[in-house]
Amino acid sequence: MSFETLPKERLARTPTPLHEATRLRDALGGPKGCPRILFKRDDLTDLAFGGNKARKLEFILGDARVKRATVLITTGGPQSNHARMTAAAARLCGMKAMLILSGPGPRGDAGNLLLDRLLGAEIRTLDASLTGPAAEHAEATAIADAVRELEARGEKPYVVSLGGSDPLGTLGYVVATREMLDQLRGAEIRPNFLYHASGSRGTQAGLELGTRVFEASWKVVGIAVSPGEEDKRRKAARLIHDAGALIGREVLVREDELHTDVRYYGDGYAAPTAHGSEAIELVARTEGVFLDPVYTGKAMAGLIDHIRNGLIGPSQTVIFLHTGGAPGLFAIGA
Ligand SMILES: *Cc1c(COP(=O)(O)O)cnc(C)c1O
Repeated sequence: MSFETLPKERLARTPTPLHEATRLRDALGGPKGCPRILFKRDDLTDLAFGGNKARKLEFILGDARVKRATVLITTGGPQSNHARMTAAAARLCGMKAMLILSGPGPRGDAGNLLLDRLLGAEIRTLDASLTGPAAEHAEATAIADAVRELEARGEKPYVVSLGGSDPLGTLGYVVATREMLDQLRGAEIRPNFLYHASGSRGTQAGLELGTRVFEASWKVVGIAVSPGEEDKRRKAARLIHDAGALIGREVLVREDELHTDVRYYGDGYAAPTAHGSEAIELVARTEGVFLDPVYTGKAMAGLIDHIRNGLIGPSQTVIFLHTGGAPGLFAIGA
């Protein structure tokens, strides 16, 4: 089987632009001191202000449709981009959404939470003080309760994994890899690296699988936005394998073949960092593009640090995958 035959809903407006960020390059030392930087604009996928979840949800909603789901249930932080985009995807497919939100972040009616409400999602928020296994337990219980309640109302619930990071969602970034290679064809550019913000790992897994399936020139570098690297790395390796199986590829990637830099998330998920805020300002003031405080600002802070430390040289080319998230600016700030 290949992904052409998997059920899919059209949710993302693709191809998204792939363009050079020359003014950012100039600000970081110019052609003599800074690599060529290409922005892959997955903040422009559309689907309720866009972001990387659009590509994942195309395959996930395809499956939900086949299973005749009527309500999507998903989880995330109070400012979850994934929750907002899942709520929008549900509407586009004639379904409803229930969002179970927990963890750190502002809980007021702003940013993504405002959009969730406008989309008419049913929102349940869990105790913010729980962490670790207690938080996981509370979330699992809330999901099980929601499934039971919705079934009792005559609905057919479908649970979407955290961040859409399941094997089907992972395929979104296999497709995105092919799209970038198509865009680069004929341009005589062979990027050396692809940088992105790495959270629940579906994006990283898809990008890694994509580079192997389509023999892309770049090394994928994730900038972690939250702690828990060991478990997440294991999850990424498993997602690569399981998503590969969906398209008839046996791909085994060792955990030590995955590159994630864990030095840039500061105090943790959704906690802004000074370097992240500087990166957001720099990209706004050079390129007129908005990054976000939870993911892409931290990823750009990592990329800038790698450039300044000479990990990437001026003769090289790097793709920065802009995964979206700007609505978070309006609740969290920068
Ligand atoms: C979810 C998200 C990510 C991380 O993607 P994962 O597949 O969860 O690792 C990055 N950036 C933004 C803006 C996101 O919403």
